[in-house]
Amino acid sequence: MNPRSALPLLLLPAAAVGAAVLAWTGNGAGALVAAVIASGSALAAAAWANAPLAQRLRATEAALRAAQPGEGTRSFAEPGEDPLSGLAQSLDQLWVRFTDRVGALAASERTLGAVLDGMSEGVWVTDATGTVIRHNDALKELLYAGQELVGQRPIALLRSTDLHDAVLRACVEGVSARLELTVEGVRPRTVAVHVRPLGRDLAGSTAVFHDITELRRLEQIRKDFVANVSHELRTPITAIRGYAETLKAGALRDPEHAPQMVEIIHRQSERLSALVADLLELSRLEAGQLRLNLSHVALADTAARAADAIRPKAQQKQVAVRLSVPPAMGAYADARALEQVLLNLLDNAVKYAPSGGAVEVSACSDGGRTLLEVRDSGVGIEPRHLPRVFERFYRVDKGRSRDMGGTGLGLSIVKHLSTAMGGDVRVSSEPGKGSTFTVLLPATGGEA
Ligand code: ADP
Repeated sequence: MNPRSALPLLLLPAAAVGAAVLAWTGNGAGALVAAVIASGSALAAAAWANAPLAQRLRATEAALRAAQPGEGTRSFAEPGEDPLSGLAQSLDQLWVRFTDRVGALAASERTLGAVLDGMSEGVWVTDATGTVIRHNDALKELLYAGQELVGQRPIALLRSTDLHDAVLRACVEGVSARLELTVEGVRPRTVAVHVRPLGRDLAGSTAVFHDITELRRLEQIRKDFVANVSHELRTPITAIRGYAETLKAGALRDPEHAPQMVEIIHRQSERLSALVADLLELSRLEAGQLRLNLSHVALADTAARAADAIRPKAQQKQVAVRLSVPPAMGAYADARALEQVLLNLLDNAVKYAPSGGAVEVSACSDGGRTLLEVRDSGVGIEPRHLPRVFERFYRVDKGRSRDMGGTGLGLSIVKHLSTAMGGDVRVSSEPGKGSTFTVLLPATGGEA
């Protein structure tokens, strides 16, 4: 019998030591030793005491090999025994320390794994050659990794020579590095990576991957917004300044052109003030400073108030404003916010409807929601622009919008107000035929 190959078969917890000895020695003496430790009988103890020293040591070694983590105390000593008892006691203590240590290591390994997997950042650890030896769950998700990451080199996983070099520098020279990468995939991601040497006399490196896609997107939006605001403000300011200077330089005494210039200054200053008002409104909405008073709102009344406010402008352009909102219909909303929504939608409808055209406000119920529609017979919007018209400063036709005194913020305010009221807004349109903007709101019962 080959004792070593048989050893694993006999690693049974209750009789592990004895059985291991039996396996190790493979003879009758081994069986006796096994019996001593397994049964603890006096006869067996005597056999143990009489066994040669070398055999006892081998038996003890085998028992240590077969030990399982957390197995607790085990006695190698026998009461009233020979000079070996000192050694046996030491082994007893060693045994306890050994199993405690193995138990503590296993617990610490489990804790480390739980901490890594609980992180939202992706983490990997490499060996001294820069090969991944460990990673957490978040990393697999972040890298859209279908394949096994352990055993791979950075270049194979991210195709970035910068990252590959950074990992090698961390492993070889102990240098840390920060870099930004794009992870290709269904939805490309921008990832900030911090590569560091493992330290503490350990060879290898770690890398922490932080998904900053949203951060970069918001930064871009902020930059675009600042650029847009500056641009929007510059246009009327330049016009006002230019005409004011011309008037100052003598045109004021020109009875033919002066009134025209004053009129332009007036129009541009109105535009400026509309722009500032919309910007303030939007920033209040985005800062979450809007206090909504949500309650049952009678839609017919709100629609009538908004229509009255827009009528002078509509009449000037010969656009008919029609209301067909059932009198009993209501929605759970903020009356002032809803009026502002309707006002912005009606203002656009009148603005983009042709002279002689019509604008209609209607309402209906749809399950638990109330749908409020503003329909016009205007220029319409091409399908490719539809998903973007609610963005700040997005205009289908910049020139036309400016000529009509538009700020490019009206629909963005509509969207914010609608969602703040727990609703939403949608648009459908056919170029050349007209557009329909639908505000969806939570419904309340029939009566006001
Ligand atoms: P603006 O002040 O330019 O009207 P909005 O945010 O209100 O800004 O609208 C954004 C863009 O959407 C407009 O510039 C216009 O191109 C388009 N749009 C909005 N409402 C209508 C409509 N009823 N008919 C056609 N186009 C519209």
